[in-house]
Amino acid sequence: MPSDTNGVHSASESQTTAHTNGHPDAKTTAAATTTAPKPRTGIAYAPAPESVKVEIADHYGHFIDGRFIEPKSSRKSDDAYFPTINPATEAVITRVAQGTESDVDAAVKAARAALPKWSALPAVERGKYLFRIARRIQERARELAVLETLDSGKPIKESRDIDVPLVAAHFFYYAGWADKLEWVYGRQPAPVGVCGQVIPWNFPLLMAAWKLAPALACGNTCVLKPAETTPLTALRLAEILQEVGLPPGVVNIVTGDGRTGAAIVNHAGIDKVAFTGSTDVGKKIAKATAGSSKKLTLELGGKSPHIIFDDAAIDQAVEGIVQGIYFNQGEVCCAGSRLLVQEGVIAEVRKKLELRLASLRVGDPMDKNTDVGAINSKQQLDTINRYLQLGQDEGAELCSPSTSTLPSKGYWCKPCFFANVQPSHTIAREEIFGPVLSLMSFRTVEEAISKANNTPYGLAAGIWTDKGSKVLEVAKKLQAGVVWCNTYNKFDPASPFGGFKESGFGREGGVHGLRAYVQL
Ligand code: NDP
Repeated sequence: MPSDTNGVHSASESQTTAHTNGHPDAKTTAAATTTAPKPRTGIAYAPAPESVKVEIADHYGHFIDGRFIEPKSSRKSDDAYFPTINPATEAVITRVAQGTESDVDAAVKAARAALPKWSALPAVERGKYLFRIARRIQERARELAVLETLDSGKPIKESRDIDVPLVAAHFFYYAGWADKLEWVYGRQPAPVGVCGQVIPWNFPLLMAAWKLAPALACGNTCVLKPAETTPLTALRLAEILQEVGLPPGVVNIVTGDGRTGAAIVNHAGIDKVAFTGSTDVGKKIAKATAGSSKKLTLELGGKSPHIIFDDAAIDQAVEGIVQGIYFNQGEVCCAGSRLLVQEGVIAEVRKKLELRLASLRVGDPMDKNTDVGAINSKQQLDTINRYLQLGQDEGAELCSPSTSTLPSKGYWCKPCFFANVQPSHTIAREEIFGPVLSLMSFRTVEEAISKANNTPYGLAAGIWTDKGSKVLEVAKKLQAGVVWCNTYNKFDPASPFGGFKESGFGREGGVHGLRAYVQL
């Protein structure tokens, strides 16, 4: 990873105060403002940089047993910490601890020690802690949104209006369930125990909420590992847990790379593993936990079909397509990355899509006008670029009508789509995890269903049609955990989410999301 130290520490982008003690109490003040973008041709949008200031420490340790602590072993060695980078500027934001097996062991022991008291707490009291966490998240929402955007590259308007409100909503929702479990299960269920939770980088704080809120509501204790590239909001959440007085050890957060994730999964003191991420790593975790008594839920990749019938409202459908694949730069497990359009309207859909892509603003994620931000990491950008080349090599036509001028630094990919795609093309089969859409046609309803299901994945799907009967008919035949009708990428804590086939198993959200965290 680049080790440039401009960005949040540079004069153009931030005001900083030097300090080195590595505790979040000692902070660097990083303004979320950036240099003004160049004027655009056509309609000129005035720059609208986010101006909320966020304090960031020089480095962060793990959050274990209610305290931030330095990494246990190799404390003096250089590789005890690694940088986390702003993908929009390539600047180092701060450094976080690389979790070792002994750090994970300390976290699991703290979670184990906290379990008896936490699980014995009256459920209504556990609920109160979750309500407090939710309210504090709301109070610190702007700060969390800015930090999320700095660390992940997603547009501030998404982290501000979607991610963080959903995070608070998840804690509120499961706070409400904490004292009602006996009504769901007929008696007060026992918790599973110590939960090891490994989350990805595309929705860092939201994935932490999806994992922690139901686990805590059911009386479990947790060891959570955020992704290597996006650890900062989980660590900020740890501060919130301290503020609300959550008993030490109930939630422990260990940062690090895949080795830290593997140490959690393999630790003998873990009772349940919950993982969201790639299908490849999901398969490794399934193998590692097979034959053990560990419970497992996996939320893995997708190649979700988005079906547009010729009776659909095309303008709205095009907005749905944009929402489906360009939201969060397409780095969404349920992204509608395979567009299936009925033959009679494919030319119209393509033309309107090109027009709409030309107007999407790509660039500074801290600008409130930005539609498409930075790709999360150089590694992910390289992956996307490989697929862009492969798609063309296999004969598909790449269309990238965006007129935005990309910043000179950072990891960028203009939103684009491939036309003339065959179902056998690699870009139509594999998860790209970027703002890249594959456009294909179909003639009949049966062909649409058959093409939609022609994938090893089964996470989500979208249908656009004017006919309610067609929605019901098609939706029940699609092999997907979620089917959106005349909309896409709508999330609610009360709605279960999860996959079929290689998209994993288990559900998160809704009353279904509690099931993985109780013993009956
Ligand atoms: P990974 O599946 O590798 O990462 C998800 C999480 O698992 C991260 O916290 C990661 O740590 C951790 N991890 C990695 N290896 C192991 C292991 N052996 N045991 C336990 N935990 C592990 O996703 P990537 O970030 O590498 O992305 C690769 C591809 O995965 C993307 O291109 C995309 O296609 C897909 N993906 C899918 C997601 C989804 O929600 N379906 C989310 C993210 C990615 P670390 O961050 O250090 O690697």
